[in-house]
Amino acid sequence: MPTLNSIDIRFVKGVGEKRALLFKEHGVRTLEDMVFLFPRRYLDRTTVKPLRLVQEGEETTVLGQITKVEEIRGKRARFIATVSDGSGFIQCVWFKSLHIWRRLFKVGDSFAFFGKIGYFRGLQLVHPEYDRIDSDGNWNSLNTGTIVPVYPSSEKLRMGGLHSRALRRLIQSTLELYDELINETLPQTLMNKHQFISLKDALRIIHSPDSHEELLAAQHRLKFDEFFYLELILALRRQKMHTLAKGIAFEDVGDKTRQLIESLPFELTEAQKRVCREIWEDMRSPMVMNRLVQGDVGSGKTMVALIAMLMAVENGYQAAIMAPTEILAEQHFRNIDGLLQEIGVRTVLLLGGQKKNVREQYLGEIKTGMAQVVVGTHALIQESVEFDKLGIAIIDEQHRFGVAQCGELQKKGARPDVLVMTATPIPRTLSMTVYGDLDVSIIDELPKGRKPIRTVWRPSTKRKEIYHYIRDELVQGAQAYIVFPLVEESEKIDLRAATEFYEKVKTGFFDQFEVGLLHGRMSSAEKDAAMTDFKSGKTHVLVSTTVIEVGVDVPNATIMAIEHAERFGLTQLHQLRGRVGRGEKESICILIAETPLNNEARRRINTMGETNDGFKIAEVDLGIRGPGEMLGTRQSRLPEFRIGDIVADVDVLELARDEAFRTIKDEVALQETMKRAERWAFFHRYLQKLEYAKIS
Ligand code: ADP
Ligand code: MG
Repeated sequence: MPTLNSIDIRFVKGVGEKRALLFKEHGVRTLEDMVFLFPRRYLDRTTVKPLRLVQEGEETTVLGQITKVEEIRGKRARFIATVSDGSGFIQCVWFKSLHIWRRLFKVGDSFAFFGKIGYFRGLQLVHPEYDRIDSDGNWNSLNTGTIVPVYPSSEKLRMGGLHSRALRRLIQSTLELYDELINETLPQTLMNKHQFISLKDALRIIHSPDSHEELLAAQHRLKFDEFFYLELILALRRQKMHTLAKGIAFEDVGDKTRQLIESLPFELTEAQKRVCREIWEDMRSPMVMNRLVQGDVGSGKTMVALIAMLMAVENGYQAAIMAPTEILAEQHFRNIDGLLQEIGVRTVLLLGGQKKNVREQYLGEIKTGMAQVVVGTHALIQESVEFDKLGIAIIDEQHRFGVAQCGELQKKGARPDVLVMTATPIPRTLSMTVYGDLDVSIIDELPKGRKPIRTVWRPSTKRKEIYHYIRDELVQGAQAYIVFPLVEESEKIDLRAATEFYEKVKTGFFDQFEVGLLHGRMSSAEKDAAMTDFKSGKTHVLVSTTVIEVGVDVPNATIMAIEHAERFGLTQLHQLRGRVGRGEKESICILIAETPLNNEARRRINTMGETNDGFKIAEVDLGIRGPGEMLGTRQSRLPEFRIGDIVADVDVLELARDEAFRTIKDEVALQETMKRAERWAFFHRYLQKLEYAKIS
């Protein structure tokens, strides 16, 4: 028995080679793809009005008989059909391709027309949608008198004759033709329990709904499908990691950890302690740890990572931490090495551009196990890097890496524990989807004594005053960051703006001070020097692009000015702001924006002024940008849903998640569910996206 998934679109009636190619460009390859190509929106054409009651400007369906046709020649050649329903008249007008209309509309024929009613010497409809009414007065409401689905259509599809109306017709006839092949995706027990309508019905309705109630029921069911199977995969992954995969069972926390904690100039926050305990518990157990640590900027994630690494080291294993940028890796190295050297732990730093002999030496140390803690960038996952005995792999700022890269670091050892850290706090609903297979720890407390950062915004016309203010603060001994945006498309221009600004203020506004420059195009030695100079106080102002975005820590820097703040995303602004407010003194973040602000920019900037809470900010950001954009669809583990929206449909998501986690606990239910899922391409696509090729 063929499945929808096994039938190439080429062989579907009414498609053919040429259209098949067009479809394929839009990711529609099989019959399954086609019937799951859902309308993007619906037009309600259910109101049918007698012509007597029709008014100019309204959108409505009218029914009537053609009483007269005429063709006007000339520059504005047009075909006009006069239609009557006994209560009044209306003229339907078509420009161009008169021969088509001439053939279609004959005096005496009846039609349903839909469009926006216009007026030109009487009621008028220009290029209305239409359906023919047969002699019994019935009409197949495809385009009129119904809720009409509108499909995503592109210029190219339209050129190939696949405009929304053609798609509508094609998909509906295809559904009828292949009705028998539409197998149910959901197990019967779930269907019964939640009174879901069948997949067959849902597909029929989604492509041609008769009523709004029906449409809602169909949408609900199809959304559930999408979420359910995604959650099922996540549930299975999680179960597998917890039961099957035997990892390392580290013994207890040892003296070195105690020594380290005692040597710290501060006490760990309660949240840090709690998260450490959660990690220790995972590490002691033989299962492979897969834990996500979420914590706002400045919540002290590095310390937690360090403590986890030390537990591995004390048990005779190596530990690795990978950061997204060299600046960050270097900073981690300095902090970590500074603390570990004293207690006799060997730490090395592995970067991309290191000298060959340095690199060789480190690689050797990593291979023999002499290097106990390894800090690095992507350089860590290169082939030439071999560990002796990797016990824990930590990924800092996880959202900056792809799923594959995280996996690669893990593969450097034999089932090491994995800890991923992120400073992009995401709302719970999102994290249970994106990280549904991970255990999550949250550091929901900032170290004591942190002063909240005051955030203000100023129009760029006030730039002079702002820089006067900053200069006054510098005189008092403060340090300042000035950040310029770096948008990928116009990287060069932006870089020039930052560089020019730097040249200008160095000899102008800030001529009594030392000004540093930091951007992504600099060599790592140059970047390192710029950062070190700023950290040591040698430079007072650091003009930078967003490379300082993550993790950089300079307690004496209390001013952050962000130029073109209207161009930054909300999460990014928050991350940047997190660079200040790390010392004793109160910090200020000044958002300098070009006016007038559009609504979205205004919302971002206002939100920054209202709260310092990363979770709240993430929630607003999610609302503005949507999950795909916020997490970056390509980078994130999030598949593209065809109908579900993990923000708007969160209740369906939660329901699906509950059912998925319940299903995997019941062997029989799981078997049945998997048997059904196997037939569907979308299920396999999820698997692929989550890089987990085989379940069973
Ligand atoms: P993030 O979570 O943003 O990565 P970091 O780990 O860089 O934060 O920590 C920010 C700063 O806070 C560092 O200077 C770190 O030494 C310091 N810190 C960490 N934990 C504490 C604590 N419990 N009390 C005071 N300062 C702390
Ligand atoms: Mg950090």
